[in-house]
Amino acid sequence: MAKFSVFKDQESLFACPICQAPMRLDQSSLVCQTRHTFNIAKQGFVNFLRQNKGDKHYDMASFENRSHILAAGYYDPILEVIPERLRDLPRHSHVLDVACGEGYYSRQLALEFDKDFMAFDLSKDSILLAARQNPQKNVAWFVGDLAKLPLREHRIDVILDIFSPANYQEFGRLLTDQGLIFKVIPHKDHLKEFRQLLPEAQAYSNQDVLEHFQDSCELLERVMISKTWSMPAEHVQAFAEMTPLFFHVDKKTLDLTSVRQLTVAGELLIGRIKNDK
Ligand SMILES: [Zn+2]
Repeated sequence: MAKFSVFKDQESLFACPICQAPMRLDQSSLVCQTRHTFNIAKQGFVNFLRQNKGDKHYDMASFENRSHILAAGYYDPILEVIPERLRDLPRHSHVLDVACGEGYYSRQLALEFDKDFMAFDLSKDSILLAARQNPQKNVAWFVGDLAKLPLREHRIDVILDIFSPANYQEFGRLLTDQGLIFKVIPHKDHLKEFRQLLPEAQAYSNQDVLEHFQDSCELLERVMISKTWSMPAEHVQAFAEMTPLFFHVDKKTLDLTSVRQLTVAGELLIGRIKNDK
C-alpha cells in the first residue's frame, strides 16, 4: 500500500478515461465508480492506454541514449532556471510534466520540492524507464495521450512542457484559474554545431512556437538558457542519435569527429492561459 502512496495522494486528480468518473485508489489499482480498473504496475506507473502507441523514433534505445545525456548533466541549466520559479508555490501544488520522456526533470525536481508531481508520456517504454529510475516513488507516472488525459478539470497548478508538444486547449481544461505553464522551447543556437554539418543548413527559428504560445497564453516571463559544453566523442554520438535534426539524414555522411563541443540552448516561457480562451 505504502509503495503506491503517491497515487493515494493524487487519486482525486484522476478521471476514468472510459467514463470520465472520478477515480480512487483500491489496493494496487485506480478504480472508477463504475469499476473500470487500471492496475498500477509494480514499478509504479499506470497505463491508461489500451494499446501502446509510442513513436517509432523514440524506441527504447533512443530513450536510453537520452537518459545517458541527461544523467551527464548537459540539460541541467534548464533545471537551474525552473526551481526558483517553483519555490514560491504552495506546498502540494500539483505539477504535471507533459510528454515527460524518461522523466528526468520530474525526478530531479521531486527530490527538491514538496510538490505533487505527476508525469505522463505516450510511450510505455519511456514511462517504464522513468518509473524504474524513481525508487523514491514520489512521482505519479502514467501512460496517456496529450489529446485526452485521464485527469479532472482545473486541478493542476503548473504544467511543465519541456521540449515537448503543447495542447493549449487541454492545458486550459486542466489548469486552475491561476495555473501556470512552464514551457521550454529550443533556441536557434540549440545544437548549432550539428546544424552546420547539414548540407542545406537552415537557421532554426522558434518564432512560430512562440507565437503559437502567445495565441493561447499571456507571456509572463521569458528566460534564455544556453551553455556550450566540451564533450567526449561518445556523448557527441549520443546527441547525434537522439536529435530530430538527423532523423532523415544518413549519419555516416556526416563528419561527427569534427564536433568537439555542443551548445544546448533553450528558452523558458512562463505563461497563463488567456481568459477569453
Ligand atoms: Zn469508468
